[in-house]
Amino acid sequence: MRRGGREAEGGGLLNRCRAKSPTGGSNPPLSARFKKFCNFPNKTKKSMMESGLCYHACYHLAKEGRLFFLTTEYYLEGEAGVNTVKVMIRTKVGGRYPYFPAAFNGNGRIKPGVALIKGAETRVRGSYYLRYVEGSTRRLSRVGTDPAAAAAAAKRKELALKAQAAGIRTVEPTSSVVDRVALTETVEKYLDRLRLGKRPLRSIAGKKRSLEIFAAVSPRKKYLDEFNRDDVLLFKSKLEDDDYAPKTVDNMMMSVVTFFNQHEVRLKLKKEDWPKYKENPPEPYTDAEMRSFLKHSEASTNLLIRTLVATGGRDQEISHLTKADLDSRRKVVRVQPKPCTDCPECRQRGNLWYPKTEESVRDIPVSERLLAELLAQPGERPFAADNGRVDGHLLRQVKKVAKKAGVSNAKLHRFRDTFITNKIRDGEDVRTVQKWAGHTDVNVTMGYAAWLEAESERARESANREDNRYATGD
Ligand SMILES: [Zn+2]
Repeated sequence: MRRGGREAEGGGLLNRCRAKSPTGGSNPPLSARFKKFCNFPNKTKKSMMESGLCYHACYHLAKEGRLFFLTTEYYLEGEAGVNTVKVMIRTKVGGRYPYFPAAFNGNGRIKPGVALIKGAETRVRGSYYLRYVEGSTRRLSRVGTDPAAAAAAAKRKELALKAQAAGIRTVEPTSSVVDRVALTETVEKYLDRLRLGKRPLRSIAGKKRSLEIFAAVSPRKKYLDEFNRDDVLLFKSKLEDDDYAPKTVDNMMMSVVTFFNQHEVRLKLKKEDWPKYKENPPEPYTDAEMRSFLKHSEASTNLLIRTLVATGGRDQEISHLTKADLDSRRKVVRVQPKPCTDCPECRQRGNLWYPKTEESVRDIPVSERLLAELLAQPGERPFAADNGRVDGHLLRQVKKVAKKAGVSNAKLHRFRDTFITNKIRDGEDVRTVQKWAGHTDVNVTMGYAAWLEAESERARESANREDNRYATGD
């Protein structure tokens, strides 16, 4: 290896440096800068040169005209910038989004939300990026907002780049590692098993997506035993970055953890690693909103709205309703599996529609009048689309009416909330309402009851009693 001379020093990197020189022109040759500005002790300089390390430094001019070395990279001669991965923070400054180096503690940990701006530690809000050179290309890759995850990602990237530079491509299975289980194959087998188990297609698709995103976050890892908590944290911050709701992030993390648990790999997540979120409070329509809905709808849409609020049925439960589900003897609407060839999802499940969960199979009592009206509808499905098939867009009908009725934030689920709160208000037992709603967990139903209780007469009386509870009688 030739010692780093002027040429090697300049390298390809210098030309790529975007820093402006103090005089406003292009960067002067590195050797010039080195002589002029570098304050490294001569010893350091000498050992650097002797070890065959070249270095590239970019400087920026501060307002007062003082110079700072903002970035310094060392690389082996002939191999442009290997092995350095720098953690940067991208933040908004005056309408632009520049990258700044992240600040580190003495113990090597990233100081959360602190960047080095012109050499000074500055509090910023932004995402972490890894900056490194791969081959001869400079790369910046986003690693989320969590400093610990960013540091872990930087460490991993550095190791990967070192391995690459040393000519190690991937770890090929040898006789000693034949027992190791590869992630991608295991995921495929796992999903096949779920499909055979007739799990709801949507839930399988969700697990598939979660595991795919998870695998993409740590692309260098191949075997199940290589993954740990850091990978899940990285996955979490990627999802948060991509604006997934906390509840979805929680579900997706759970999919990954369940998968690893089933294959006896413990990821060792801590309690605080899980996203914090509140269950959404119920949003029943007010009596005035319901009256307006009914006033501004007619024929089948009016019947649809009345059915939604009288059964608390979910979107698919109502769109897949058939006359065979209407039991005139017991006066109930039955939610049960049934043949369906109309939806892609049902076709993939062997031309069958399934309720969301086992507990969703249920009988919901309805009025005789509603039952008669549903039975009087033409065709097999009371709420079929114009072509007679299952209507995948019930919400559209409801939204149209909502606009006329002046109801904002119309959702199908709000009819379900309305049904549940109405039944609890009518004094039905929470266990009974749980059955009718098809809740798996009674705590969900109890959540509605507690929410409603805050508005009850008793709660009101008790609240008002506080005014006089400790009155002295003066
Ligand atoms: Zn279907």
